[in-house]
Amino acid sequence: MAAMEMDSVECVSSVEDEEMQSAASHTNQHAHPHQYSSKPHGLVASVLAPTSVHELLECPVCTNSMYPPIHQCHNGHTLCSTCKSRVHNRCPTCRQELGDIRCLALEKVAESLELPCKYFSLGCSEIFPYYSKLKHEAVCNFRPYSCPYAGSECSVTGDIPYLVAHLRDDHKVDMHTGCTFNHRYVKSNPREVENATWMLTVFHCFGQYFCLHFEAFQLGMAPVYMAFLRFMGDETEARNYSYSLEVGANGRKLIWEGTPRSVRDSHRKVRDSHDGLIIQRNMALFFSGGDRKELKLRVTGRIWKEQQNPDGGVCIPNLCS
Ligand SMILES: [Zn+2]
Ligand SMILES: [Zn+2]
Ligand SMILES: [Zn+2]
Ligand SMILES: [Zn+2]
Repeated sequence: MAAMEMDSVECVSSVEDEEMQSAASHTNQHAHPHQYSSKPHGLVASVLAPTSVHELLECPVCTNSMYPPIHQCHNGHTLCSTCKSRVHNRCPTCRQELGDIRCLALEKVAESLELPCKYFSLGCSEIFPYYSKLKHEAVCNFRPYSCPYAGSECSVTGDIPYLVAHLRDDHKVDMHTGCTFNHRYVKSNPREVENATWMLTVFHCFGQYFCLHFEAFQLGMAPVYMAFLRFMGDETEARNYSYSLEVGANGRKLIWEGTPRSVRDSHRKVRDSHDGLIIQRNMALFFSGGDRKELKLRVTGRIWKEQQNPDGGVCIPNLCS
């Protein structure tokens, strides 16, 4: 990935009637009322007290849940296969040689367990056999979202109110309230289009948050500019909204109308599927007016709510495949 070029792109908002609204009112929302209860629900086991079975299946080294093959040392200390490969054949608990002993009994106990999804404190009420729990948790609708900030490897995760505060405070992202926008993207030397020039702005309307991305990247031989919207929430909810983007000058304009993509899809994935307003550089310079030395694009747009669509099927275009 090419380096960021934050400094060279300026984003000038000219939305007079939109007030910068503090998102401070949301900072408390990620303090969830229910904490992880010490009493696991839905345990279908056994002679042992449920908590202790659960604790037995926690790797004493990394504290993750253990999945087959579960290993043990000659003294019976267990550990997970990831940790086993890291400890150079020494039991981390008793320092004896580890050997290669499977702990089949514990694997069998695990098989008989049913456990709640680990996101149950975030609202998921589903219960799974131990070995299919991981698979569900990877796609659970209640799992935390990744930070939608593009162009950096930000590892922050959380719920939407938390991420909105994170974008504002840590990434210094512009926040706007309202369902229309009018942005100017200015770049003084458009000849130097590198792969990852980009801007992110967050919009707050209909009680939801949307990320407006503006990027410059190389498409084959030609540099292009692209604008698209992502919905801060799940794909099923994203389908309730539509948006339009317009850019133009001198009696010509390009209009894009689409459905915002969920931030569950990485910005990279959305970009590579060309699911947004794409402006060829020559056209972008034409729209900029003047001597074509400076990129000055005015992108206007609108977000609106669709009527509920009862048969709303998944329909995500991938125009470049
Ligand atoms: Zn481990
Ligand atoms: Zn040991
Ligand atoms: Zn779940
Ligand atoms: Zn981040």
